[in-house]
Formats: sequence, C-alpha cells, structure tokens
Amino acid sequence: MPRRLAAGSADRYLPARPTLPLLREAAAGCRACHLWERATQTVFGEGARRADVVLVGEQPGDREDLEGHPFVGPAGRLLEGAIAAAGLDRTRIYLTNVVKHFKWEPRGKRRIHQKPDAAEIGACRPWLDAELAVLRPAAVVCLGATAAQALLGRQFKVTQHRGRLVPSPLAPLVMGTVHPSSILRAPDEDARRRELAHFVEDLTVLGRALAAAKQAPGSAFDQP
Ligand code: SF4
Repeated sequence: MPRRLAAGSADRYLPARPTLPLLREAAAGCRACHLWERATQTVFGEGARRADVVLVGEQPGDREDLEGHPFVGPAGRLLEGAIAAAGLDRTRIYLTNVVKHFKWEPRGKRRIHQKPDAAEIGACRPWLDAELAVLRPAAVVCLGATAAQALLGRQFKVTQHRGRLVPSPLAPLVMGTVHPSSILRAPDEDARRRELAHFVEDLTVLGRALAAAKQAPGSAFDQP
C-alpha cells in the first residue's frame, strides 16, 4: 500500500520553466495529495496551445481516468456539441479541471464520483495556475459549482450568477456556468433539452464577448 500523504501543495512538483509539455510530464508524478492512489493516472489539461478560451471543470470522471484525457466521456461529448452550437472555435479551446485525479468510491462494481474537498482542490491549484500562466487565455469558463467556487469564490452561486461575465484576475473575460454532467442528470428529456439550450446560451454570451473584445481597437488579444 503506498504511503498516504496529507494534502499539501503541488507547488513542489512544478518545473522551473513551465511549458505545457513539461507541466504535463511533472503532473504525471504528482503526489501532493492522496487522490493519485486510487486513480489510474493524472488527467492533465489538453487543447489549443494558443487558446482563446480555457474551460475548467471539477475533475476527471471514470472514462477520463481510464483514457487519460479530459472530457472524453458522456459529459465531454455533450460539451463538444454545446461548443459547436455556441459557435466557439474549437481549435482555440483548452479543456482542463481544477483537480487532476479522479476521486471516487466503490459501489458494487462501479466507481462513483466523489466531490473533491477544499484541501484537495487547494493542493492541485498550482497546476491550473501554471496552465493559465502559460496559456494566458482571453477567457476562462468555470464549469459547475466546484470549479466556479474554487476560482471565483464561495459567494458564486451557479444558479444565480451563471452566464454573466464577472471581474477576475484569471483572464479578461471570466464566466461561470453549469457542468455538462448536470445536464445529463436532468430528470427527463424535456428538462435535458432546456438545460442544454441554457448552457449553449451561456457559451454564446461568452463567444460574443470574445468576438467583440478581439475586434476592439487596440485589442491585446491574439488575432487568428
Ligand atoms: S489531485 Fe492534483 S494535487 Fe492531488 S495528487 Fe493529483 S495532481 Fe497532485
């Protein structure tokens, strides 16, 4: 049985001169909290090196843990559809999570998602901060309450504040909205369709703000 470490900070694993490949390589060996013990592997962020938008979820799910890539399960497929429906440029998007290992508990033969706690989120935060520092995106979207409250503060309520741009040092444009997995949990097909439309609407607001910011005279954002 591997030695159980108390939640600390991933800071000590960061490379001296971070690049995305070096960060990914270093994160693969992270043992800053105990979540690595029961997970298959670290699931680091992936996507465009010149990303306009970074989408941040909670943590990898069962499929992501097995495959080693973020947002490749059912919620990821829904997210890809919503990105396309909102007209966001998929080639300028980077996907990641606030926590890089899958936290779960066994129930029969199934692995059931468990919400990461504040110490685990805090331990993992240096990876996300390093990703954002390298990418310097124009926009950050927090998907779900865990990511939104970790990055925007405990006062952020997804039900009340979703779909609005909020001031934040994370990026020029920052928004919180639901996690796509919550749409999959809608009680029936009608509710699922409504929730999906609302999610696409939120991403469309972001897309319009991004387009306007890029077209503004003297815009500092990278042009395609
Ligand atoms: S969850 Fe984050 S901090 Fe904890 S071991 Fe995994 S990568 Fe490191």
